[in-house]
Formats: sequence, structure tokens, C-alpha cells
Amino acid sequence: MSDRTLSAIDFKTCLFELPKVELHNHLEGGAMYPDLALKLAKRNNMELPFSDEATAASYYQFESLDQFIDILRTTVSTLNTAEDYADAVERHGIEARRQNIRYHETFVTYGLVASRGVPWEAVVEGLSEGQRRNREAHGVETAFIVDLDRTLPEEIALEHVRLAANARKTVDIVGMGLDCQERGWPAGRLKSCFELASSEGFRLTAHAGEDGGAESVWDALNNCHVERIDHGVQAIEDEALLTHLAEKQILLTVCPVSNLLLCVFPSLEAHSLPALVNAGIPVCLNSDDPPMFNSDLVNEAEVVYETFDFSQQEIVTMLRNAIEHSFQDETGKAALLSEFDQVRDKYFG
Ligand SMILES: [Zn+2]
Repeated sequence: MSDRTLSAIDFKTCLFELPKVELHNHLEGGAMYPDLALKLAKRNNMELPFSDEATAASYYQFESLDQFIDILRTTVSTLNTAEDYADAVERHGIEARRQNIRYHETFVTYGLVASRGVPWEAVVEGLSEGQRRNREAHGVETAFIVDLDRTLPEEIALEHVRLAANARKTVDIVGMGLDCQERGWPAGRLKSCFELASSEGFRLTAHAGEDGGAESVWDALNNCHVERIDHGVQAIEDEALLTHLAEKQILLTVCPVSNLLLCVFPSLEAHSLPALVNAGIPVCLNSDDPPMFNSDLVNEAEVVYETFDFSQQEIVTMLRNAIEHSFQDETGKAALLSEFDQVRDKYFG
């Protein structure tokens, strides 16, 4: 790559044109744009604490991860039927197409709806239909990662792994992840779930090192043997962990705007991203729950470029890392990398 610097407008065009992959975006929070939440609430004869875009904007305000999860549980209560799930997956696909995201891995946390009695069969039917719509109508490949709620009793979490394994006849579930309240809920508590998921052929990842410290990342790596870490930004506390992540080339799926709004760092400038990159750890950029953070993947790339001292080429490399470390099959990955490099070289060759 040359060391050319594009104008802001050309860089934005380049960011949109690159065929991209996003690895850290949740179906429940990531698709719950106010209009979709209101549509699903109406379909299910439910009331929400907001009635339009304006009242939604003030409702979607939060000051901590726990408060954020409470808001999420309210909007997610509108997800009840296969059709609701299909609409949510498709909404996610439409947002992907708008940004030229060709393949995305979407977290689905059954623990968020299971206690309300939403049948897993309805979830699977909806995921499958949404996946079909995204492929056929929007040119986007959607794969799912079933995300275990850290706070679930072990037996229930194990049952969620078994359900996910059985569902793979119907829908493309590539991996198993771990999510929700990190403090007080160590990943190792659900070690048996990851052993089962691994024996079933799932690829493994876990949210760790977001509001938990470096020891939480070690816990996910040593006890759950995950291949990637979602967030991982607190790894900065521990020099030995930074070295390990760099040596093993373990990808961190970093979500800068989410981290800022959930007060993981006091300001974007204080974010650990530059230090993680300088340590030689592969990172990619992600929007986590874009409607909750008023962001998207292209915005994350622009914000990171504007805030830190990264070159445009370094930002492009972060986008490329997502393709390289995705759980997609090697053929699909190679085709996308080749297309990505052609567009990159057009701008920076
Ligand atoms: Zn997340």
C-alpha cells in the first residue's frame, strides 16, 4: 500500500465501497431500531415506553451497562414469533447492504427471550427465513453466533447449546459466544457449555474485558478456549496478556462508540485501541448495537480515524482483519479478501 492520504470525502467513499464483514453485532439490540420495535409491539399488542422516534431518542439513554441491558430487555420483549425474528434479521441485513457489508456474524441470545416462553422452534424458523431474505433480496450472507447469557444456570445454558446444535440442520449457526453482565459472572462457570459447543463443531468466542478486567479475558481464553474475544479492551491492564494476544494473533472485536457510551472509558481519546494495535494484536471495528449507539460500521471507522493517529491504511487493515478472522468457510473468505484487496488497491495501491 502507498502512504497516500485521501480527502475526507474520498475516504468515506472508499469505506463504503470496500466489501466488508462485521463480526460483533447483536440481533436483539442491533436490529431494534425504534420503528421496528414499534411495529413488532403493535403486532404483539404490546405497549412500549416510547411511541415515536422523538420519544424513543430520550428512552434509549443510559449511563451503565446494567441500565443498558434493562432497556434492551424492554425492546427485546417485542420479539415473540418467527415473523418477528425474520423481520429483525432482515432489518439487520438491510443495514448491512446499505454499507456494503457482504457477510456478518450476528449474535442471538436465546436467554433474553426464553424465560418469556418464546419457543426455540419459532426463533430458528425466523432466523432461517431472515437469512434467506438477506441472501436472496439483499445480497448479504448472515451467519449466527448463539450467545449464552453469562447469568444463566449451567444446566439451562447447556440446553441452549444442545438446541443450537440441533438447529444447524435448518439455519447457519457458526459459533457460540458469551454475553451479558460480566462482573460477578466468570466465563469459566460455563466451561462445560464451551466444551460441548466445541465437540459439536462450533467456533468459539466470548464477550470479555469490557467492564470486567484483564483476568476476565484470561478466564475466557484459559477456561473456554475461545478463538476471538469480543471487546477485550481491558487487556491493556496486563502486559503478559497483551503479549499472549499478539503472539497467538487472537482477534479483538472492538466497538469504540459502544465503549464510549457505556462509559467503559471516560472519553474516546482514553480508549485503549491504539495501545492494542501497537502491541501487535489484530483488531476489527464493530457497531455492537447500532440503534442503541446511533452508529454503524462505517461510522465506527470514521470516528476512529478522526480521534486517533491511525493512517487511513491502518483503518482499512482493521476492516480487512474482520474478513480474515471470520468464521466463514475458506472459499468465501478468499473470494471476499480478493475483492477487498482490489478495491483497497484502487485507492491506496
Ligand atoms: Zn456485544
